[in-house]
Amino acid sequence: MRTVYLYNTLTRKKEEFVPMQDGKAGIYSCGPTVYAYAHIGNMRAYVFADILRRIMEYAGYDVTHVMNITDVGHLVSDGDDGEDKMEVGKRRENLDAWGLAEKYTEAFFAHAAKLHIQKPGIVCKATDHIPEQIAMIEKLEEGGYTYITDDGVYFDTTKFAQYGDMAKLDIEGLQSGKRIDDSGKRNKTDFALWKFSPKDAQRDMEWDSPWGKGFPGWHIECSAMSSKYLGDQFDIHTGGIDHIPVHHTNEIAQSECASGHAPFVKYWLHCEFLSMDDSVKMSKSKGDVFTVDTLAEKGYDPLALRYLYLTSHYRNPVKFSYGSLDAAAVTLKKLTRNILALRDAAEENVALSDKVKAYQERFATAVCDDLNTAVGLAELHALLSDNDLSDAEKYALATEFDLVFGFDFANMADESKEDAPPEVLDLVAKRDAARQAKDWAEADRLRAAIAEKGYAVEDTADGAKIVKAS
Ligand code: AMP
Ligand code: ZN
Repeated sequence: MRTVYLYNTLTRKKEEFVPMQDGKAGIYSCGPTVYAYAHIGNMRAYVFADILRRIMEYAGYDVTHVMNITDVGHLVSDGDDGEDKMEVGKRRENLDAWGLAEKYTEAFFAHAAKLHIQKPGIVCKATDHIPEQIAMIEKLEEGGYTYITDDGVYFDTTKFAQYGDMAKLDIEGLQSGKRIDDSGKRNKTDFALWKFSPKDAQRDMEWDSPWGKGFPGWHIECSAMSSKYLGDQFDIHTGGIDHIPVHHTNEIAQSECASGHAPFVKYWLHCEFLSMDDSVKMSKSKGDVFTVDTLAEKGYDPLALRYLYLTSHYRNPVKFSYGSLDAAAVTLKKLTRNILALRDAAEENVALSDKVKAYQERFATAVCDDLNTAVGLAELHALLSDNDLSDAEKYALATEFDLVFGFDFANMADESKEDAPPEVLDLVAKRDAARQAKDWAEADRLRAAIAEKGYAVEDTADGAKIVKAS
């Protein structure tokens, strides 16, 4: 097991990771709100969580990665007033809230796959865990942490002395500052655990509860599902920095008050924001969003975006521009070509010289030092241009580093190789047609037939690519 250091938002310090259970790491990542496409800023947060998971595995941990899908209860304001984002989305699309959630959950995972984000082992939807959320609210009620208004059941933040500690919130300043909304809240920082359905309208998503028909507040889903899958206390929680003052602050309050155990989470990791160059807008009006597919439509390999993310530290803000993406795309292409040129020299169980081991050590130290992927990439480039190393050594180490980077160099199409034989091309064309017709069973059958002939198809932004299986 390698030692991993992580910057913990709780302490504002880089700390040595000490797991709650030997050899295991539990990670919970706040997932997408599925009312629209995830933009490339959102996807930065998921590439970050993916890299974290891969590094923990590289370091030798047995990782349980959980991610939620927010398909109800996240209001436009991130607070307790305003509409549910799902309601806004459904009006835009002429779908009901369930159809909307399905459409954007599917799109999210399709985009994630194009960025080589591994699907977390446990993906859980808020709407599949209503009883768990109700049970947690009941526990909070029994503990005297709640009160009821005309609008819903609220958490009284004055009952939790540590409220806002992680975010270093100035509670007094907050209480005296903004106007309280008309939800009947007693304190500005109080938040909804359960919201009542409107009296005069029926929501697509609503459930009976001990307090009346309604739907859960946004924060309770993460507390309820994380404790279900990882326990009342677990190792690592991730999200973007915007989650620190409200969402994660509220999760800590609910979870610690409901379970009576602190800390709820040992290490809180937050990813900085991606912003856009003045010439590019990430989120336009009418639900028009800059996504992974927007890049693919412009002819970029989505993995160039992954490369771009990996060149900066997750705690630094990044400004997206086409210039930086172009540079990332060119570097990634060269890197791929260099690594594929070594593929024929690949050997199993290469004996590594001391010089190679030194690269390995520097790489591991960098990535285990709060996810320093930029230094890790620099080691990869240096390794490939080092004339003292054999091709087999270089290939072995490059593919090992790739366990963390996740480009999957070993299986990338080698553009210099000859085309596949006509019968394989014919099967690929038939599979394309089946996919067009959304006949997934037939497409899968054809994929298997292609595999039998020793080839694999990869669906890329430029269409299906055929790769000779190694
Ligand atoms: P949402 O779907 O709004 O719940 O957000 C999904 C994730 O994206 C959350 O972890 C946010 O913190 C994160 N996020 C939102 N905007 C950005 C951005 N511009 N850059 C990086 N992460 C972001
Ligand atoms: Zn969350």
